[in-house]
Amino acid sequence: MELITHNLIGVIIQILCFTFLLFPLNIVCTILFAYISHLFCDAISIITYHTPDKQEGDKFWIIWHYIIYLLSFISFFFFIIPYWLGMLFANIIDIWDWFILRPIQNKKKEKNPESKWGEKYYLHRSVDWVRDKLFFWLPVRNYKKSGILIEIFIIITLSIIIGFLGASLFIA
Ligand SMILES: [Zn+2]
Repeated sequence: MELITHNLIGVIIQILCFTFLLFPLNIVCTILFAYISHLFCDAISIITYHTPDKQEGDKFWIIWHYIIYLLSFISFFFFIIPYWLGMLFANIIDIWDWFILRPIQNKKKEKNPESKWGEKYYLHRSVDWVRDKLFFWLPVRNYKKSGILIEIFIIITLSIIIGFLGASLFIA
């Protein structure tokens, strides 16, 4: 799923954990559930428009990603205080795989193109596991443009839930 979707789920998890659990369980459970949420979200992301590779020649792909990055940025800015913990751990799998492991691996491959270094450290391998075990029955629609409607629906639903939970923005 997209960054904004992970962000909103991280926010909801943190609100619930901090409302119903006491220290230090609220922190532990926020981290744990936010992490797990990424596995489930990415596992079902095959039903949303989610091409594994960049479609740079495709206007639709470009515009959709402009919108989604803008929304992600806004959600980040809105919720970073005080929901940074939930958002961080809802995205930590992407941060590790895409911004830490992948660049290191690319460096290794420059020296040795055959290098298999790091393959087993990808956290998205557990996403594949969850998908194979639990969501194998879902239709694969990640190249279907109408898949954005599912993601938009999920984003709106999550936003409404946050509204109901009374996320107090700009908490002091
Ligand atoms: Zn991911």
